[in-house]
Amino acid sequence: MGPARADLLKKELGIFLFKDLLEHYPLRHIDKTIITPISQIGADTDYVQVSGQLINLSVVGHNRSKRLVGSLKDGSGELELVWFNSIAWIQKSLRPGNQYLVFGRAGFYQGLPQITHPEIESVLSESPTVKNHLEPVYPSTERLKLKGLGGRQMAKLTESLFQLLSENDIPEIIPRQIMGILKLARRFESLRQIHFPDNPEIYARSVYRLKFEELFVAQMRIGLIKSNRHRYSQGIVFDHVGILFNKFYGDKLPFELTKAQKRVLREIRGDTANGRQMNRLLQGDVGSGKTIVALLSMLLAADNGFQSCFMAPTEILARQHFDTIRSMLGDLPVSIRLLTGSSKGRERKQILDELAGGAATILVGTHAVIEEVVVFKNLGLAIIDEQHRFGVEQRSRLWKKSQLHPHILVMTATPIPRTLAMTAYGDLDYSVLDELPPGRQPVITAHRYDNNRSQVMDFIRAEVSKGRQAYLIFPLIEESEKVDYESLMQGYENVKAYFPEPKYWISLVHGRQKSEVRAINMKRFAEHDTQIMVATTVIEVGVDIPNATVMVIESAERFGLSQLHQLRGRVGRGAEKSFCILLSGSKLGKESMERLKIMTSTNDGFKIAEKDLELRGPGDISGTRQSGELNFKLASIVEDRELLMVAREMAESILKQDAELSLPEHILLKKHLSIEAGQTQWSKIS
Ligand code: ADP
Ligand code: MG
Repeated sequence: MGPARADLLKKELGIFLFKDLLEHYPLRHIDKTIITPISQIGADTDYVQVSGQLINLSVVGHNRSKRLVGSLKDGSGELELVWFNSIAWIQKSLRPGNQYLVFGRAGFYQGLPQITHPEIESVLSESPTVKNHLEPVYPSTERLKLKGLGGRQMAKLTESLFQLLSENDIPEIIPRQIMGILKLARRFESLRQIHFPDNPEIYARSVYRLKFEELFVAQMRIGLIKSNRHRYSQGIVFDHVGILFNKFYGDKLPFELTKAQKRVLREIRGDTANGRQMNRLLQGDVGSGKTIVALLSMLLAADNGFQSCFMAPTEILARQHFDTIRSMLGDLPVSIRLLTGSSKGRERKQILDELAGGAATILVGTHAVIEEVVVFKNLGLAIIDEQHRFGVEQRSRLWKKSQLHPHILVMTATPIPRTLAMTAYGDLDYSVLDELPPGRQPVITAHRYDNNRSQVMDFIRAEVSKGRQAYLIFPLIEESEKVDYESLMQGYENVKAYFPEPKYWISLVHGRQKSEVRAINMKRFAEHDTQIMVATTVIEVGVDIPNATVMVIESAERFGLSQLHQLRGRVGRGAEKSFCILLSGSKLGKESMERLKIMTSTNDGFKIAEKDLELRGPGDISGTRQSGELNFKLASIVEDRELLMVAREMAESILKQDAELSLPEHILLKKHLSIEAGQTQWSKIS
């Protein structure tokens, strides 16, 4: 291929190496033995192949609407063919009166069947290049088609490449054992068959094999990172449980830990005592009690003479953690500081000095914590709460704050589907709080339309009269911030009309307020000075006010599932029965309806996370946007989740047998992994 076309291929499709071409998989195959009569083309016809006589060909229109139009007649009817590009060239190459074979996506224009930019070849000309009847259809672009690199040419290229290759060039990398267990087709053969299948069964087997390979290779890579960390990383040792931990546990802890909390603490203890660096993901549903696990871990660090920091995604949350922790600690001799964007001037300088000097033991804060100027004397543990708001890059900065990497505990706000956790966070150790504290009653969730608002208000009034509190949440989405802000203020006025002062007091909390104002409003609600809070999603994560029993979400159709679940998690935190009311407009799209239905049918965050993944696909799940590693060429972590589990299991068993991949049967796999390693950024950080 000449340099110009090669360049174009690289630019348009990222194809540069043989490997790229081999992995440019066909979208589908068409059976070229099937020719559809034109009269049978219907509204639901997709790609078709038609054979007939070209009866005329002419250029119509001017300038931008200039196009080449032809008709193809086959005895049953007439099909219009249209080209907008490279008109002259195409016109020159076609002869009206001749027979042609035409392939493309059929549509209708003014009631007539039509194919735009069809693939067209003379029936008399060269015999089809691809011998068997299942011909690959490749994704291509208009520019490539123009330069003669459309689907047909791609097939030719790929076919000629296969003529140069043999199994030696593309050796089997999957260990024989696994090939046997899963009865996998061989690698080289699968690659060839996925392009040029002998029949549909072999094609399916090849796809299965190649999907497995993608998932397996990814799991191997993740597994290697993890096992290397386990074997070689050096960590700070927390070798004893001391007086702070024990005193807190014995005297201050107001409740018995759940079994799950105890188990997770044991896991963390194990990680931090063995001389390796901990890198652990803690998953737990909303309200499962992650904060206390964090606090006890920090006390463990303190007992061993180390500082810790606890990072939260919002200032409200950081402040709340700070207040909770401080009041729970009571008179225990632990110095705890709060650092946020609003810590300024002398106060800020003092905090920084205390951290550097070691006078401060626990730092709670927002992103402010990871700034360059924040220096610790001996940071031993970093905890990241509600991690989906933090990018990998930000997390990595924590590492640099200590000579030995501090132990890292990442806590999720809402559960992440298992398959996603396995891929995006698979290199981390994993703990799960799969149990809620006792006495919780499931939140009762209902969906109501806007025109029922007054009943909803009556309901709130009834709850408030029982001494409870309510949240009313309005969406605030950045692109339309101004409109949203106005609707928030409008909503606030409406609520005020239902709940007039001085009988009722309302806290208003949103992102445009000064943080002091926001903090005061939060505080008043927390102390039950106000009965109702009108807020935006700034309170989405973590806010913990057990006396609140009603959560009303306005325009609920505009929220994503995990956000709704998070918001709902703000109630149902005390012993009283709690309610979540999703208000929406009456015109709902299918997906919005589906989301609201899921919310009213389950309280289980793990289930909701799975549904979310199904509805939106991996790319959009909050917090994993940076995870390019989730996009496989063939496999999908939604549709192929079972295969993913199998791949995971197989990868683990290989690494257990042979962590260095030094056995002869693993040499090719090892080589393959080291070749591939440069191409994907597998974050070692979590
Ligand atoms: P989340 O996991 O959502 O961060 P929190 O840590 O905020 O949950 O805990 C939710 C509430 O449950 C808090 O009020 C906390 O004090 C309480 N809690 C945590 N653990 C227990 C427990 N073992 N028994 C009773 N209440 C608990
Ligand atoms: Mg929390």
